[in-house]
Amino acid sequence: MNYYSKDINELYQMFKTNKNGLKKSEAKLRVKANGKNIIVGKNKESKLKKFLKEFADIMIIILIISAIVSFVISYINHESYIDSIVILAIVILNALMGYIQELKADKAIDALKKMQSSKVKVKRDNNIYLMDSKYVTIGDILVLEAGDKVPADARIIYEAALKVDESSLTGESEPVLKKVGILKDNLPIQERSNMIFSGTNIVYGKCEALVCKVGMDTEFGHIANSLNEKEEEKTPLEKKINDISKFLSIIITIIICVMFIIGLIKGQDFKEILLLSISLAVAAIPEGLPAVITISLSLGMSEMAKKNAIVRKMTSIETLGCTEIICTDKTGTITQNKMKVQEIYYNHELKKIDTIDNNLLLKIMVLNNDALKNNDEYLGDPTEIALLEASEKHFDVEKIRKENIRIDEVPFDSDRKMMSTINKHNEDIILYTKGSFDSIISHCKYIYEDEKEELLTDEKRNILRNVEALEANKAFRVLAFAYKKISTYKLDENLENDLVFVGMTSLIDPPREDVKKAIELCKKAHIKPIMITGDSLKTALAISKDIGILENDDEAILGEELDKMDFETISKNVSNYSLYARVSPTNKLTIVNAWQKNNKIVAMTGDGVNDAPALKKADIGVGMGITGTEVSKSVSDIILADDSFSTIVTAIKEGRKIFDNIRNVLVYLLTGNIAEVLIVFIGMLFGIQIFLPIQILYINLITDSIPAIALSFEKEEHDIMTREIRKKNSSFFTPFLLAKIFTSALLKASAIIAVYFINLKLYDIKIASTMAFLTIILLEIIFTFSCRNIKRNVIGKNLFNNKYINQSIIVLILINIVLFLTPLKNIFDLVFLNPIQLIYCIAVAITIFLVDELSKKYIKKLFKD
Ligand code: ATP
Repeated sequence: MNYYSKDINELYQMFKTNKNGLKKSEAKLRVKANGKNIIVGKNKESKLKKFLKEFADIMIIILIISAIVSFVISYINHESYIDSIVILAIVILNALMGYIQELKADKAIDALKKMQSSKVKVKRDNNIYLMDSKYVTIGDILVLEAGDKVPADARIIYEAALKVDESSLTGESEPVLKKVGILKDNLPIQERSNMIFSGTNIVYGKCEALVCKVGMDTEFGHIANSLNEKEEEKTPLEKKINDISKFLSIIITIIICVMFIIGLIKGQDFKEILLLSISLAVAAIPEGLPAVITISLSLGMSEMAKKNAIVRKMTSIETLGCTEIICTDKTGTITQNKMKVQEIYYNHELKKIDTIDNNLLLKIMVLNNDALKNNDEYLGDPTEIALLEASEKHFDVEKIRKENIRIDEVPFDSDRKMMSTINKHNEDIILYTKGSFDSIISHCKYIYEDEKEELLTDEKRNILRNVEALEANKAFRVLAFAYKKISTYKLDENLENDLVFVGMTSLIDPPREDVKKAIELCKKAHIKPIMITGDSLKTALAISKDIGILENDDEAILGEELDKMDFETISKNVSNYSLYARVSPTNKLTIVNAWQKNNKIVAMTGDGVNDAPALKKADIGVGMGITGTEVSKSVSDIILADDSFSTIVTAIKEGRKIFDNIRNVLVYLLTGNIAEVLIVFIGMLFGIQIFLPIQILYINLITDSIPAIALSFEKEEHDIMTREIRKKNSSFFTPFLLAKIFTSALLKASAIIAVYFINLKLYDIKIASTMAFLTIILLEIIFTFSCRNIKRNVIGKNLFNNKYINQSIIVLILINIVLFLTPLKNIFDLVFLNPIQLIYCIAVAITIFLVDELSKKYIKKLFKD
């Protein structure tokens, strides 16, 4: 069906709707009948596939092959199959645990995705509602403006300067102009200029459009149908860890091959060599590590979402902790965005809003205003809502808007910092304009005084400037208003010239309560907060001094001054400024570039569609959940659900914490692996097997992986926001980290070897090896506490206040009790220990733990982190 070549009334009939939209009840029925307006990716992984993926690890595959080979050998030699069965059981148990954790992580990610659902304005029953775009249905009337994402394919019924970015659909990077009208049949999608398409973005102007197709029926749906779901990109850290795992696997495979050849030449038993090789491989490879990292990251993400920071890209968590510069908007992020008109300047007088009588300025405040009121609820931009609230006491808003019908408009945009509407009253056509004081005054030639239009002389201009300065210095946001009577008009650059200045409003927008503290915290954390605002210099200065962003006026600069400088000068001087006022979105991009040229990691907030390039360029693009346009949100790395500056600081803190915890997990797991390799290796040198392959498998896959997950729930360290910022590209394995891993591994390995050999002299080989096995399990358990903080002594410092660790330890102890006290112990070749032997093992584990705790101080002193 070619909706673009039909008469609009024909379409209304076809869809049983009209320009006021569907009835609410009818819309609900249609959503039920036609399904929700959603695009479904093709390849959603099935649960079985997910489970099977747990086995798609080279080490796990080697293990399974070994189990099969061992099975075959046992069959040939008529031996018991127990080894193979246990290996398989452990591998399956490990996969099951990984699968459950991944499901949990997936759930967290799904919940995050739901929080990012996009909202759209829809007209139903002649009222406008903001709703989730999945409830848009055929016959609905969409009300869209710059920054909105188009939620469905729709025919335009009204537009003002509408431009749409259709690159996602057609590949065309330039925004295309869209118009109301009827087109001829058989046009390619690029030429259907009276239609807007799902998945594209409104970048300029506004429109109303009749929904013709939704969900998978849309043009975008057709494309999505042929695409697979995009997998989340691996973070640099995950890539590094994967590389380590791969590297270890290769080395170990080579060693095993060499061992095999030597063993065979020496004429050793094949099965024995095989089992020994397996134990070495299992000992060396941190099988669970990549999964634990991914799980820690996604759990971290849901933790952050609880604190209002919704992470869109996992990769940004690592970068977040390295943030050195935060460039933030003022309105809504630093301030509450609860605007209220306080004072009005009109006809020579500056007055409090409550003392104002009905006048022309109040009328313009209603007419040049897109805010709406639906049953006591306001919809629209907070500035405009404030203007409507202040003026509606004097008017019947609906009536005056009907009497002065809007016939055209030049929409607001933050480059021009103004907007105009053209209204018709009886036979008169009048242009009403409002905007920032500077932009309005520069377009005015006359002033409305004593109900007459007078020439706006320089003297009068100066008076107005002084009033504006007075108000801005009180931290008020000042807006100016003007009009012009016209007979005919053309939407060109002359339309807004020679205006008649009418007056000004001063709006208050107090800073958020927690923002002062957050700025202080930034400064302690060596993070530089910078305010970048479209508002006036004086207003911005008053607020930024109040909250502590700057102290001196010379730390502030205007966007237009920036425009005059070349990039070299800007990047040389960028560190001198903490406040940029009256900026354009392109200035934002320049500021990001300048800081990045100085090798700084920059977070940048943005809400408008024009902010998208700066948000993309910043290391961390921060979108606004409440006031942000859909387009700005879709290019952000994180979204602030509450729009608040302090949430950025909280997110940085969380980012640092997640990174710290991953380091702790890494130390925990690698220490265990290296210790095991040392033990197997030393054993080999003496021609004995201290641990059986299945024992090592058990330690690695069961004992180690449970506490590792719990470690990623650790709370932040007390100095997390005062220490030096980690450099983004710095090596993950610092000398300190390596020293810590090797020291602990050596301590553990020597303790186990000592326990084995000493007890081999006192008791038989089975008791000695059981004692060594128990000691290493106890060490792994107790080391979980040690790894809660790899730099500081943990003894006496609320050792048991991480409930996840406590729970995981209890689970582990229970598993081990079952292992030691049931016939299972026979499978693992363990024997019953008497109380003295038990106490002996516990004492060794505690002693090693204490020595390791003591060593932390010296490692920290000797090795750089
Ligand atoms: P920030 O950049 O910190 O969010 P801002 O809201 O002042 O601050 P913009 O939204 O770019 O930034 O607005 C720039 C200026 O345009 C404002 O300071 C105000 O003077 C003017 N302005 C804002 N909203 C409107 C509007 N709806 N109509 C006309 N002018 C407006």
